[in-house]
Amino acid sequence: ARTAYAAKRPRSAALHEQALEVLAGGNTRTVIAYGPFPTAMTRGEDCRLWDLDDHAYLDLCGEYTAGLFGHSEPRIHAVLHDVLRRGINFASVGPGEEKLARIVCARFPSIDRVRFTNSGTEGNLMALTAARAFTGRDKIMAFRGGYHGGVLTFPAAGSSPSTLPLPFVLADYNDNDSAIAVARAHAKDLAAIIVEPMQGSGGCLPARPDFLATLRDLANETGAVLIFDEVMTSRHSGGGMQARLGITPDMTTLGKYIAGGMSFGAFGGRADIMAQFGGKLSHAGTFNNNVLSMSAGGVAMGEIFTAEVAEAHFQRGEALRARLDDIGAAKGLPLCFTGLGSMMTVQFRTPAPDRPFVPTAREEQLRELFFFDMLEAGIYLARRGMVALSLPVGDADLDRFVAAVAAFADNRAELLR
Ligand code: PMP
Repeated sequence: ARTAYAAKRPRSAALHEQALEVLAGGNTRTVIAYGPFPTAMTRGEDCRLWDLDDHAYLDLCGEYTAGLFGHSEPRIHAVLHDVLRRGINFASVGPGEEKLARIVCARFPSIDRVRFTNSGTEGNLMALTAARAFTGRDKIMAFRGGYHGGVLTFPAAGSSPSTLPLPFVLADYNDNDSAIAVARAHAKDLAAIIVEPMQGSGGCLPARPDFLATLRDLANETGAVLIFDEVMTSRHSGGGMQARLGITPDMTTLGKYIAGGMSFGAFGGRADIMAQFGGKLSHAGTFNNNVLSMSAGGVAMGEIFTAEVAEAHFQRGEALRARLDDIGAAKGLPLCFTGLGSMMTVQFRTPAPDRPFVPTAREEQLRELFFFDMLEAGIYLARRGMVALSLPVGDADLDRFVAAVAAFADNRAELLR
């Protein structure tokens, strides 16, 4: 599959060779640095992509959830063109920033006040900073298998890597006893508990509601600030997973699609915690309120991805996942999809995993094969087998994906067994 992949993409291969001369690692996004070389995309329209070697794809990667609106949403294009006519970034404030903040505060139950950043990573670093300053404590509890940004990556098993920028203590995800033990062991030093309501990078593994409720109780008990990293999961309802589950954290971080595909991150929460930014805490950032992100975000969240649209999109994803799961079940193969709503990840073990795990060598091979087989079928998804449906994806596109997965199950049945 690798050889066939490479043979069809000579231009992508050549670009990769050139890039290695100047870009450390060949490009600046680790998730896209897969072997033998990444496919270079040159054009997008709605939910379609075209690569440098002129292949067309159905885009089910959806820019790792940031591409919710597809590549050519006319209302987002219109506002961006309008903004460009008036000039780029004025080292000032403007109505776009206030409008987007008002929408975010109205939508997410935990967010009384918000501030913007350029990425989800920064949003998390700032939320953790705010929690540490607010509590006067140091440590942060995070979960194995979690991902909160570039340097905030946690292994599925074992202890923290030495590359972490803050003093983290790790517990097991979806394991109440582990969370209770770790929180109590560090109770007096614990500034924050940070958790993804569904681990995204970790394989679309939803948190059990009782696990999140336990974390809420532990934060109350220890005085730590509970932070929901909803960078990926905020799309799961008008008010994110917190609204869907009725569990309100003290702080929330956002990112990805919210600025209509422009660079974006945010952190917000209780008014008393966020009030530190009135003087005590500094948070500058040249592009925090850049006019492209602020304006596109107002349209994206205010006019397009309304709470009603969010709910319908969630249900659409649920229905797709059920169809996909039927394929493996009907054939008796270890092939299923974990996730929630419009985000899902292929898994090559049954029953569906509900906790982070270190994939076996066989699973790694199957993930690569699945990715290459989907590309061959003209479907682009995340290399690790994650799908993030964008709004322009139509019913015929979903049928096509289901058929491609069924063909994979047939063609690769021997390897899967
Ligand atoms: N948190 C979560 C849950 C994420 O999935 C990501 C990105 N995949 C981030 C934080 C980091 O966001 P960004 O890539 O915008 O820095």
